[in-house]
Amino acid sequence: MTLPPHRTLTKSNAQFQRAVKRLPLGVSSTFRYWGEDRTIYVARGKGGRTWDIDDNCYVDYRLGYGPAILGYADDRVDAAARKGMEVGGVFALSTERELIVADRIAKMVPAAELVRFSNSGTEAVMAALRLARAHTGRESYLLVEGGYHGLFDAAMWQADVEGWQQGGNADPEVVPYGKGIPPTVRSLAHLTPMNDLQRLEDVFRRHGNQFAAMLIEPIQGNCCSIMASAEYVRLARELCTRYGVMLIIDEVKSGFRVGKGGIQGILGVTPDITTFAKAVANGYPIAVVAGREEVMRSFRYGGASHGGTYTAHSVSLAAAEECLRILDETPALETLANYGERLKAGISAILNARGIVHSFSGHPSMFGLFFAPEPPDNYRAWKTSDYSFYDRMAYYLHDLGIICEPDSREPWFMCEAHGLDPTCLTDTLRAVETAVDLTLEDLESEAAREPAHV
Ligand code: PMP
Repeated sequence: MTLPPHRTLTKSNAQFQRAVKRLPLGVSSTFRYWGEDRTIYVARGKGGRTWDIDDNCYVDYRLGYGPAILGYADDRVDAAARKGMEVGGVFALSTERELIVADRIAKMVPAAELVRFSNSGTEAVMAALRLARAHTGRESYLLVEGGYHGLFDAAMWQADVEGWQQGGNADPEVVPYGKGIPPTVRSLAHLTPMNDLQRLEDVFRRHGNQFAAMLIEPIQGNCCSIMASAEYVRLARELCTRYGVMLIIDEVKSGFRVGKGGIQGILGVTPDITTFAKAVANGYPIAVVAGREEVMRSFRYGGASHGGTYTAHSVSLAAAEECLRILDETPALETLANYGERLKAGISAILNARGIVHSFSGHPSMFGLFFAPEPPDNYRAWKTSDYSFYDRMAYYLHDLGIICEPDSREPWFMCEAHGLDPTCLTDTLRAVETAVDLTLEDLESEAAREPAHV
């Protein structure tokens, strides 16, 4: 087997050994741990590229899980953020810029009649659910299998597709994301499979009168960019209206990325409440909960609580003003979607030349790659895709200078800077070709080692 041109991770490995003594798993988010000898520590990022402390350079398609919509360390947004710093941080009082940014959001997303800021996606979705509960006076809620809405107990229930026996009648078990989530919270969470219209009608018929909210990511940004059909989201809208349920479209990943008006704009569906985070300020921490005026007015004394010490921090807010201006007034989103199309076409040409069946899901600005003829249309179908090919290819890609998520459920994210730097595409495709060949060689040698069946 030809060995990949190995990176040297000497400094990252040494850093890991030091860090793990003070930081659990040596990192500040569990998903940043990639094993004792493959966890990397970043020195800096610029545009569509990241450098680790060993000075390995990567074309980065993780982009911090999406925030760097323009590219890392964007000069325009960073200059605005510096101005925001001069304002002074947080005051437990309001600044004029909040309205300027809210006006921009309302212009880009018609459903955002009124706007409140939060610091993270988790906080924004927590606020959205609380608002829905306050407004409806109900407690339970509906989640879609494969969706992810942040790290808070109410949202941390998932369909255990990996442990599920496909082909039987039973649904996957609903399990918490890890330990520490009280089972008492479970009774309020209902799950339904994506794109199954009949099941959606059924669950509303049985429980719709008790639901405060239905939460949906129409592009599942944490599950292979599986897409909801327009028909499915329209039915969700109709059922929510019929049963008095708040439709929360969670656009923490898709917002200000797949289009100026998000996935809701593309599908033509208006939620009652919507959430944004990642692309709002090109990586500065800020998030948005927005929605219908009548609903949003429940954020008041005696209504739903909302706030937080760092809410609408002057640095993030200034960055948001500039980032959203760029996304609204320049062709940045077209540039990055076009890059995504060219990248997909290049990957396809490499895979087709080797007869490897594959497909893509999602939007060109955040796509999933599958080794199956069709992309899955719900989380259960993910199980039928050959994700072992992806897993191995991703492992090689890291060695070859491409950062993508090691798990096939996380999409590849594009930024404007990828589209403006012609070397990103050529470097990526060269690495993909090598990674695919190394994966094929591995699989062939593994097959040769398998005992012959008689
Ligand atoms: N909702 C969705 C759709 C997300 O993708 C995420 C983060 N991946 C969250 C909520 C939580 O956001 P954060 O990590 O900023 O708390």
